[in-house]
Amino acid sequence: ASWFGHVEPAAKDPILGVTEAFLADPSPDKVNVGVGAYRDDNGKPVVLECVREAERRIAGNLNMEYLPMGGSIKMIEESLKLAYGEDSDLIKEKRIAAVQALSGTGACRLFADFQKRFLPDTQIYIPIPTWANHHNIWRDACVPQRTFRYYHPETRGLDFASMMDDIKNAPNGSFFLLHACAHNPTGVDPSEEQWREISYQFKVKNHFPFFDMAYQGFASGDPNRDAKAIQIFLEDGHLIGCAQSYAKNMGLYGQRVGCLSILCEDELQAVAVKSQLQQLARPMYSNPPIHGALVVSIILGDPELKSLWLKEVKGMADRIIGMRKALREKLEKLGSPLSWEHITNQIGMFCYSGMTPEQVDRLTDEFHIYMTRNGRISMAGVTTGNVGYLANAIHEVTK
Ligand code: PMP
Repeated sequence: ASWFGHVEPAAKDPILGVTEAFLADPSPDKVNVGVGAYRDDNGKPVVLECVREAERRIAGNLNMEYLPMGGSIKMIEESLKLAYGEDSDLIKEKRIAAVQALSGTGACRLFADFQKRFLPDTQIYIPIPTWANHHNIWRDACVPQRTFRYYHPETRGLDFASMMDDIKNAPNGSFFLLHACAHNPTGVDPSEEQWREISYQFKVKNHFPFFDMAYQGFASGDPNRDAKAIQIFLEDGHLIGCAQSYAKNMGLYGQRVGCLSILCEDELQAVAVKSQLQQLARPMYSNPPIHGALVVSIILGDPELKSLWLKEVKGMADRIIGMRKALREKLEKLGSPLSWEHITNQIGMFCYSGMTPEQVDRLTDEFHIYMTRNGRISMAGVTTGNVGYLANAIHEVTK
């Protein structure tokens, strides 16, 4: 008898599968707009200058000791300033329980585990669609999931009315997962006015908002602007949870550095919650890795490096916004009868193109263009060099 004979291969991750197929394609024309990582205009991965400088400062000075169980105090401090505001009273009042997390994914998972342990009767409401891993995270944490409507396929924008209905119809005191900015995969965010209405309704219903903020600064180019939704909820006096990631906005993908924070009623509560978050982390990974946390705290803690970072994150956002314009213009120039307005209305890393799985298959088979079958284009993979080719191919399969 075999111990492992019953173990079937896991279903392939749809995003990682796209990269595999791309790598295996020998065509010189091939384009990868599947993967969610930033590329420069030559299609190359980027290490930010501010990160290189932080690494120079670390070199030679680094010991390899453990971080405290909750992670780097300095990194957490700087992260809270970014998310809650530089001069936030909530920080001064020590009302926020926060720990370093294994990037955005780890922050979400730690929160889900916390929810399961301390709020065992709650569920999580997740937007349709969402980043596929959200479903896995709350599933593995054994928190029951519900969904709420979010995206409108016809307008390729927000289905605000349905979203509000679902918020109103959820039982009072429900937990909701909200993308703070640059919704993945749709690139569709509520307007400021809509966020205010959502926040108001959350108050009426006593719902709890958990913000997944994987793209702060990466959406508009301005981290403060991208934290606007959180600011609105804070002004309305909500308690919130927040997952932060430095994968995209600092290009620290593989370093796995992020922060989970939970805003509590007072300092006493925050101390208790933080100790319990550490208790959850202890048997999983004990304490988080040091290197990325050092990079982040050096950059955000030094005014000069921080302004360099702000310039560089804006540079990434602007390149993507520029490629949105270029892609839309080229499709319109080709005489496409369809509307491509949503390409420039949507924001962040992704364009939810509205192409069908069959059209995506044709892009791949006939044009060597690789992306997920839901029609999501990673704008980070679009460059001056391939945008014309991409537009032409999209036009061919959609006309
Ligand atoms: N949330 C969302 C919405 C994301 O798009 C991502 C990255 N794909 C993450 C969280 C987490 O990424 P990471 O764990 O690399 O920070």
